[in-house]
Amino acid sequence: AKAAGRNTARFFDPVMQAAVTTHAELAKEIRLGLQRHEFVLHYQVQIDGQGRCTGAEALVRWNHRVRGLVSPAHFIPLAEETGMILPLGEWVMESACQQLVEWSRNPMTAHWTLAVNVSASQLAQPEFVASVREALQRSGAPAGQLKLELTESMLVDDVEDIIVKMMAIKELGVSFSLDDFGTGYSSLSYLKRLPLSQLKIDQSFVRDVLTDPSDAVIARTVVALGQSLGLTVIAEGVETAEQRDALAAMQCDAFQGYYFGRPAPADALILSAGTQNLN
Ligand code: C2E
Ligand code: CA
Ligand code: CA
Ligand code: CA
Repeated sequence: AKAAGRNTARFFDPVMQAAVTTHAELAKEIRLGLQRHEFVLHYQVQIDGQGRCTGAEALVRWNHRVRGLVSPAHFIPLAEETGMILPLGEWVMESACQQLVEWSRNPMTAHWTLAVNVSASQLAQPEFVASVREALQRSGAPAGQLKLELTESMLVDDVEDIIVKMMAIKELGVSFSLDDFGTGYSSLSYLKRLPLSQLKIDQSFVRDVLTDPSDAVIARTVVALGQSLGLTVIAEGVETAEQRDALAAMQCDAFQGYYFGRPAPADALILSAGTQNLN
């Protein structure tokens, strides 16, 4: 199953051990999946320095009728290449807003923020600002609790256009977090101009933060940079108490990772966050 050529996709292959499929077929699969309501959002908690849950990140999964629960790593790149990320991204935004409304009805979750991943091609759409505004209006979700995650790698395109759109979205009350920070090559002068509220230390630096001095230096530097720009810093991929403690000692503000909880359906999340708040 290594025959993926120019017109074929890596989807379901090699992990799924299924036939290689063309881009056109995959685009159709995703469209069908949307029609059949096969996509679901899982949520991973975000934890502050006091160990309290402050919200979650929405991570999409495809509950495929034949293949079972498919990881976004297997279809997001394909959805991006085929343009299907646009309808999929709209569905994610809509569902995330509905989830925020549900949380607002429960005293335990009413203050939670929800982080939503946004692709470069979504942000490049002239209608992106309007689509965020409309998703908020239609759902009645509290804009101040919606956070959009952009990645550093998308800031290489038309930065001026991105800044204008970010400003307009920020006007709505929505905030921005810069995901996978440290893995891209965004210049520090851009960073200063982007209306961000958070930097997210990439998990590749968190993984060996205890054993690799250069990863520790990078993590420490991102925290210092965030502090000097007035941004909060969250670390992703935190798997152990030792990693959490090391990052906390560097004054990292918030944490996310398997140590606190795996991505899970909303119902399961509230149960585990409830347990966490008891200690
Ligand atoms: P990401 O935004 O960097 O999300 C973090 C990934 O790390 C998630 O993988 C999450 O499940 C995983 N993770 C969380 N904690 C840990 C940990 O402690 N250890 C390890 N090893 N991994 C951890 P996932 O859910 O498979 O998502 C993969 C990527 O797919 C995401 O990376 C994001 O780039 C993309 N993605 C997911 N949902 C969406 C979406 O709704 N829209 C868009 N555009 N992209 C999405
Ligand atoms: Ca993310
Ligand atoms: Ca990330
Ligand atoms: Ca990452």
